[in-house]
Amino acid sequence: MSDKIDLKNLTLPALELFLKGKGKERFRATQIFKWIFQHDAHSFDEMTNISKDLRLDLSETACISNLEPEAVEEGNDGTRKYLFNLGDGNGVESVLIPIEGRNTLCISSQAGCAMGCEFCLTGTYKLTRNLTTAEIINQIMAVERDLVRNPPALPANVPVIGDDLDDGDDSEDGQAASAAGIRNIVMMGMGEPLHNLDNVIPAIQIMIDGNGLQFSNRRVTVSTCGLVPEMARLGREIPNVNLAVSLNATTDELRDRIMPVNRRYPIRELLKACKAFPLPGRRKVTFEYVMLGGINDTLADAKRLLRLISDIPNKVNLIPFNEHEGCDFKAPTKAAIDTFHKYLIDHNVTVITRDSRGGDISAACGQLKGKLEKA
Ligand code: SAH
Ligand code: SF4
Repeated sequence: MSDKIDLKNLTLPALELFLKGKGKERFRATQIFKWIFQHDAHSFDEMTNISKDLRLDLSETACISNLEPEAVEEGNDGTRKYLFNLGDGNGVESVLIPIEGRNTLCISSQAGCAMGCEFCLTGTYKLTRNLTTAEIINQIMAVERDLVRNPPALPANVPVIGDDLDDGDDSEDGQAASAAGIRNIVMMGMGEPLHNLDNVIPAIQIMIDGNGLQFSNRRVTVSTCGLVPEMARLGREIPNVNLAVSLNATTDELRDRIMPVNRRYPIRELLKACKAFPLPGRRKVTFEYVMLGGINDTLADAKRLLRLISDIPNKVNLIPFNEHEGCDFKAPTKAAIDTFHKYLIDHNVTVITRDSRGGDISAACGQLKGKLEKA
């Protein structure tokens, strides 16, 4: 298997090139691409509109990788955590968050993370390796399969006011497919996606390809701790994807301390990169702000935050810190959250305070911890 090409690593243009090397026409690539990403084919034998000769050739030179969850845990609120064994001792997790019929899947981009943010459990595991494009895509496909086999208990199609990753434009929401399946993809699981762009960019291209997974680009969000040059590259190569930035602090002094990346790209440069990021029309940059009790959760912080982001089309995700063994930070009080939230609302900022979904199965963002390793 090792020297065979995993076709799940290939975007449609890359697959076209691969088949051109075998003297095949372009439309063959489209057919095979659809078999893989739309019909979830596991073998070339299934590809009935492809000639026997080509199928035989492919089975000798290529393969179609797959992931099945090693474990699935469901929280009280319907959140599902999937543990994937990558086969080389590494495990990553994906978290499905059913928001009233709008399923959001949080996927991982790396095993571990090199960025070392002080508050983040994933950051305490050093980076083991980048995920391949196929491994990123296979998380989505495995969860789609699970949703067909075990539909979530929550009612689908409940009208929703305010979806934190939605831009308010529901013009394409008639698409039936998303009601039961995954509607939003957020790259907020393990790892820093912009630290693995060579694999993340093709993965997003497959996600949004009309012949691929068919996600609308407005439903795909990449979250970064602030790798400035990579933000520019992402914007150049996939201009319409949603950008979320983990700001988490309003002074360089604090951000330097809790997010070492800030020593390379301080707040000013980060915000400049946000401003330059090509977002269409009414779309906004999402600023994530992890509230650490007594550290960054005062009214003065809220005021500074507002000032920092006010000249960028913005919305804010407040994330109350999820306590864990990896560090001594504390969750903010309810009063601190409410005051912070209210200040922003009163100043016309769209703000969502994220509930710590999946807390009971420690599935919340930044808490993805390989149970595997413990077991
Ligand atoms: N590396 C990317 C995406 C993964 S982290 C990034 O940093 O943006 C996803 C989000 O979880 C980030 O906003 C991060 O700040 C937040 N986070 C990390 N640890 C957390 C914790 N213990 N409690 C709450 N949020 C946390
Ligand atoms: Fe990595 Fe994001 Fe965690 Fe920072 S917050 S250590 S960038 S996963």
